[in-house]
Amino acid sequence: MAEILTFYKLEEALSKDGCAICRLAQEGVEAFLDDLIYERVNDYGTRDAIIKAGGFCNRHAWQLVELGGALGIAIIYENLTQVAMKTIRSKSDGWEKAGLLRGRHKKNGEALRTALAPKAACPACVQERDVEKLYLEALVSALSSDEIDHLLHPGNALCLPHFRQALRLPMSETAYRKLLDWEFSALEKIDGELKEFIRKNDYRFADEPMGREGDSWSRVVALINGEKKCPG
Ligand SMILES: [Zn+2]
Ligand SMILES: [Zn+2]
Repeated sequence: MAEILTFYKLEEALSKDGCAICRLAQEGVEAFLDDLIYERVNDYGTRDAIIKAGGFCNRHAWQLVELGGALGIAIIYENLTQVAMKTIRSKSDGWEKAGLLRGRHKKNGEALRTALAPKAACPACVQERDVEKLYLEALVSALSSDEIDHLLHPGNALCLPHFRQALRLPMSETAYRKLLDWEFSALEKIDGELKEFIRKNDYRFADEPMGREGDSWSRVVALINGEKKCPG
């Protein structure tokens, strides 16, 4: 059942333009953060994982803010603030009382830096990696048969970061060939559009109307570097 649902979601993501894995990872992490902030703020395990990670990475912390849920964020970050204060105080007080700080602030700073460093990965990044892996595996498996062939076109090829991730996975030769053809066709198409965009920006051809190539300069960024917020 879970496999069918995964395949269905993959199919749905492939029906739109842009990298399907970027979209699915983004949706997956959004659902995770949403659930966390509205349902699991007071859950001990969740709180512990967040504290070990020193909060979220910058990308996911701001995604959390964008999602809203002010009270949940306030509760989590009040906790993180307390932990940071406790760490700073324990280092400085301990050294001060032992008379060790005098002239040794550099060493103290180093110990404090280590104590403040995250001890685990950002929980949302962990979730994101799991989602990417799940759908990339489903994708290469589907490429071995002909079940998604009709959905593949240059406009929905993987971004290069996800293409590189896909190449790490074990796959059949059929899947490998399709993956390469799909990616190459996307690069070839956007390259043609970029050339046309650059040509039409020449004053000699400036009166020619802009066509599909008009936004090729932003679509190529998504293809080469991933969609906005792509974990890369
Ligand atoms: Zn992607
Ligand atoms: Zn993260």
